[in-house]
Amino acid sequence: MKNDRIFLSTPTMHGDEMKYIHEAFDRNWIAPLGFNCDGFEAEMKEYLGEEANCLCLNAGTAALHLAVKLAGVKQGDVVFCSDMTFAATVNPVSYEKAVQVFIDSERETWNMDPVALEKAFEKYPDAKAVMLAHLYGTPAKMDEIKEICDRHGAVLIEDAAEALSADYKGKKCGTFGKCGVLSFNGNKIITTSGGGMLVCDNEADRKKALFWATQARENFPWYQHEEIGYNYRMSNVVAGIGRGQLLHLNEHRDLKEKIYRRYEEAFKELPVTMNPYLFDSKPNFWLSCLTVNEGASVDPLDIMNKLAKENIEARPIWKPMHMQPVFEGNDFITAEGEDVGKDIFERGLCMPSDIKMTEEEQNRVIAVIKSFF
Ligand SMILES: *Cc1c(COP(=O)(O)O)cnc(C)c1O
Repeated sequence: MKNDRIFLSTPTMHGDEMKYIHEAFDRNWIAPLGFNCDGFEAEMKEYLGEEANCLCLNAGTAALHLAVKLAGVKQGDVVFCSDMTFAATVNPVSYEKAVQVFIDSERETWNMDPVALEKAFEKYPDAKAVMLAHLYGTPAKMDEIKEICDRHGAVLIEDAAEALSADYKGKKCGTFGKCGVLSFNGNKIITTSGGGMLVCDNEADRKKALFWATQARENFPWYQHEEIGYNYRMSNVVAGIGRGQLLHLNEHRDLKEKIYRRYEEAFKELPVTMNPYLFDSKPNFWLSCLTVNEGASVDPLDIMNKLAKENIEARPIWKPMHMQPVFEGNDFITAEGEDVGKDIFERGLCMPSDIKMTEEEQNRVIAVIKSFF
């Protein structure tokens, strides 16, 4: 049945996934763990680089939680967090009863502003960790952020859930911090239907995370527990989907970029700006977004509603964490006093970026948006 709805980002399967799933069934290896998990981790390591010690888990959020634990974050600790991101980036800080302090975005990548981060360390010199997200697959200013973290002795955790295959100066997102996090949720650049991966910069951390993720079972003949554990591992069936998808990751990335370039070209003459990136970084272009330029009196919500009427899915920019009721009491640090995140949120829109969208379908989206200007 032909579905003419145009989506933001949905799963794209190729058939290779079934090969690995069949193998799991044929060998009756349906349980968590198993050869597909090992294979997926090894193949991801090959993709990301030698220092990437990978652990596949049942969600990106689980990986974020274990990353916070590996950083040694304890009750009452301050963790500096990207402000403009999805809530999953910052929730695990609360799981450990630590406190998020949100760091405003800069305008060149929409990610954590190093100037605001430096200011935050003046106010909270003992902050334990920095939780940095690469929004929409665009690499953050890694040189500056890494230097600041190192100088202040804070652990860097990278939420690369949206940024798999993106790179900054030739190094893949997810491999800059002590830990990196990937997600294979249904809308991500590759998907396992649901799942995630923790990327550790050393094998000992990976082992520790694996221990926590498998109920913290000590090495005894009976069930012996000396720490609190979790059930966070990925199943061998799900990992099979991941192995099949990984074969097509670069192809997905190239299709995402094509979509971004078409929007960019089509909106050249319009008072709108595409989500920006640094010239020496390569985003994965997971979502194409725009901001309506200041002075152009068009409300992105009106564009979204008109698109919805045409059966086209769009979505506001992720609402910044400091504007979320649940984080009302948390501190928020800006570079110069201006609230950049709020401004981008109010003028921005995420556009359909589904790689199965045809050129004709994208032209439909473009026509609706153009009709506002
Ligand atoms: C999707 C996403 C997550 C959560 O990943 P799950 O696999 O859904 O748990 C975390 N952070 C960001 C920035 C995301 O976009």
